[in-house]
Amino acid sequence: MTAKSKKKSKTPLVAIIGRPNVGKSTLFNRLIGQRKAIVHEISGITRDRIEGVVKWDGYEFTIADLAGWQDKLDSPFEIEVKEIIDETFERANLILFMVDGRSGIIPQDKILADKIRRYNKPVILVVNKIDSPEKENLEYECTSLGFEHMINISAAHSRRINDLLDEIISLLEFPEEKPQEEKDESISIAIVGRQNVGKSSLFNCLLGNRRSIVSPIPGTTRDSVDSFFEYKENRYSIVDTAGLRKQSKVKESIEYYSTVRAQGSLQRAEIALFLVDAGEGITDTDKKVGGMIQELQRAVIIVANKWDLTKDTQQHRNEFIKHAYKALHFFSFAPVVFTSAIKAWGIEELMTAVEKVHFNYNLRIQTSELNRIIHDAHEDHPPQSYKGRYGKFFYAHQVETAPPIFQFFVNDPKLFHRNYRRYLEKEIRNVFGFDGAPLAIYYKKRGKSKGSGRDA
Ligand code: GDP
Repeated sequence: MTAKSKKKSKTPLVAIIGRPNVGKSTLFNRLIGQRKAIVHEISGITRDRIEGVVKWDGYEFTIADLAGWQDKLDSPFEIEVKEIIDETFERANLILFMVDGRSGIIPQDKILADKIRRYNKPVILVVNKIDSPEKENLEYECTSLGFEHMINISAAHSRRINDLLDEIISLLEFPEEKPQEEKDESISIAIVGRQNVGKSSLFNCLLGNRRSIVSPIPGTTRDSVDSFFEYKENRYSIVDTAGLRKQSKVKESIEYYSTVRAQGSLQRAEIALFLVDAGEGITDTDKKVGGMIQELQRAVIIVANKWDLTKDTQQHRNEFIKHAYKALHFFSFAPVVFTSAIKAWGIEELMTAVEKVHFNYNLRIQTSELNRIIHDAHEDHPPQSYKGRYGKFFYAHQVETAPPIFQFFVNDPKLFHRNYRRYLEKEIRNVFGFDGAPLAIYYKKRGKSKGSGRDA
């Protein structure tokens, strides 16, 4: 029976389980990062357990990242941990049992496998850290764990994540009606950047003269506070603003600011305002923050703040843009906006960019239009042959928005090199724009549900 013909009333729950260091959190981030996700911490419990909503191909499921407590499995005194484990196993509709493909199966995996089997739930054995398809011996080793469904992935390199999503969808039960797209009333923004770039100042500037409501979100910790404001026609929310408010009494470490908080904010926002210090230029810490935005596939605007301290000429602006794109080469699609948060300069330009980028991030291209462009691009410039065979393209469609994800049906994904994906992305951007929005392109073997490929 397919998922589409089965009936159930609630959003299904998928739990990621595995021993420490197999890559559970990376997979969680990868899954929610690639789809529009709403993440919240479960109240009353610690940050160890977070859940996010994943949307894929019109279906929706909740994914639980239990990394924190699972990593305490060795501690016999963690009674609370045991309760959470049992409760989650009971609730889960599907278990992603993760093992480390590089280190192979160790006794701890076998113990966990036995425990999982006792719950009689559908399980996908997820063999992580497989960065290339050639791992025959390992496959045999993993088969010995005795789970029917198994997939080799690389969470860090985003390899075969879409195949895993397809497999998850095919094993879950869903309500008969596809869930309606959520109507988000506000455009959600995260202000991220290293310390002292002016995040709090920008926050105060944006909120300062406008009607603002600061409200805690029910069910989340004290730290997760969002602020709302209206600008022209739209309503905006700036997520996780506790640390940005002026009189914040909490002094947080540099590390905390640039990693944990940025990550938490990004998970709950659609658009990242990525602040950098215009005078200092792009630093290594900036690159790390940028990497985080990239990993979560959020829409992004590079905000060159403190522009009042520099010479404001067009030539200088152009030079800065060049410098930013060179240092953050993975963000060449992101608009660069120049601001002074303390003088309230450039705010109109910034908000215009936010509106545009939000539009692009949620843009859906008609299949017919997309295929016309791709067919032309393919004809103009077909992929090079690989071991004497040629890549054939059949058709493409956009499977998701926010971020835009495209699936390309081809004769064999192995025949489409990474560079070719860049070429297709460029062609799509040339025609449809998508400024500020990351695009994902996946190849899939036509006619089969379980395509594979080095790029997928
Ligand atoms: P955060 O750590 O990123 O939140 O940075 P803050 O907002 O606390 O700002 C750090 C320092 O930079 C403060 O002294 C601000 O007054 C100053 N600052 C912030 N934005 C600007 C700006 O646009 N121009 C100038 N000249 N200074 C700024």
